[in-house]
Amino acid sequence: MSERVIPLVDQRHPSLPLPAAAATGEHPLDRLQRPLHDLRISVTDRCNFRCNYCMPKEVFDKDYAYLPHSALLSFEEITRLANVFVQRGVRKIRLTGGEPLLRKNIEILIEKLAGLRTPDGQPLDLTLTTNGSLLARKAQSLKDAGLQRVTVSLDGLDDTVFRRMNDVDFPVAEVLEGIEAAKAMGLGPIKVNMVVKRGTNDNEIVPMARHFRGTGVVLRFIEYMDVGATNGWRMDEVLPSAQVIERLQTEWPLAPLQHSAPGETAERWGYLDAQGQHDPALGEVGVISSVTQAFCGDCNRARLSTEGRLYLCLFASQGYDLRQLLREKAASDTEIAGVIDAIWQGRGDRYSQLRSAMPPDTGSAPVRRVEMSYIGG
Ligand code: SAM
Ligand code: SF4
Ligand code: SF4
Repeated sequence: MSERVIPLVDQRHPSLPLPAAAATGEHPLDRLQRPLHDLRISVTDRCNFRCNYCMPKEVFDKDYAYLPHSALLSFEEITRLANVFVQRGVRKIRLTGGEPLLRKNIEILIEKLAGLRTPDGQPLDLTLTTNGSLLARKAQSLKDAGLQRVTVSLDGLDDTVFRRMNDVDFPVAEVLEGIEAAKAMGLGPIKVNMVVKRGTNDNEIVPMARHFRGTGVVLRFIEYMDVGATNGWRMDEVLPSAQVIERLQTEWPLAPLQHSAPGETAERWGYLDAQGQHDPALGEVGVISSVTQAFCGDCNRARLSTEGRLYLCLFASQGYDLRQLLREKAASDTEIAGVIDAIWQGRGDRYSQLRSAMPPDTGSAPVRRVEMSYIGG
């Protein structure tokens, strides 16, 4: 019988020492003068899909050591931390995972987060990224709880291709139903994210665009990234966004649009009318060129893992254990705010800009990069 070593969570993701609290005044800027604006909160490290680029079956099998329930931040803990983050500048919160709709009673968390206000009394931009498998069932309760919009991940329209991508034989029709349900509930503008893997689903680029063009859904193509250490990433499987746009332009005229917000990751392209003007009724597509065009320069995103570690970059190996402040140190909100400020002020992460100078993580280094399913996309 072969013996399997199940790594302890703390060995898998060692945490960094917490810095002393900074005095809080103006909202913090990091070492590259980037503000803290966007917080992604992972609410579970589990998922019902096994997308090969994220949770390959061979690694995330029945023996995989997921976090025990006691390790997860409770809804009260998440809300409390989120509120402090909002006091320190965060204006947008995205719930993610794993598959966030698998977290039991997620609607209760949404209700709590929807109740948060900025110091000048404004609600937050509150959204969620899902694989869509449970969306048809949950769209109504998510809307009722106060969710504003959803982003759905969908890697193809062809059922065979889609089943192969999710690797659990999940039918595409059910995700499309979920998108329709979310639309009917007003959970928009809905974004659909497609990760493009050359040779696997790049034939789906044009059919996906044809399907969503003129529907109000914003389709975005994401370059396959070398995130984590388990997906066996290879550069030759990345289809550069420039080629995605070229393929779309063989079908429809497109022109670049302005960025909608600072720190926005997608480059936007609008469908043109017969006069060569952007036609809002036909809508737009986006490309997220995480590999071929680094956008670290204005990256304003922080990530809170399922167990309460704060990560400053998608490609980080280590995070800061904020849960400790809540559970062991019984810190006040002011103390937590000071620690968040100090952590953010020390941030210099810009992995994508440095990628070409760094070796890929193959899982053999003593400290491994965190997985996307743990940290949230
Ligand atoms: N399960 C949810 C979903 O799939 O939407 C939320 C979590 S998932 C980790 C968030 C996003 O990360 C998804 O849009 C997924 O396609 C994307 N993603 C995961 N691994 C990726 C990779 N290696 N390269 C690019 N995008 C990736
Ligand atoms: Fe699950 Fe989302 Fe990762 Fe796919 S991308 S395995 S749906 S967490
Ligand atoms: Fe932000 Fe890190 Fe991505 Fe650069 S590589 S854009 S710093 S998350």
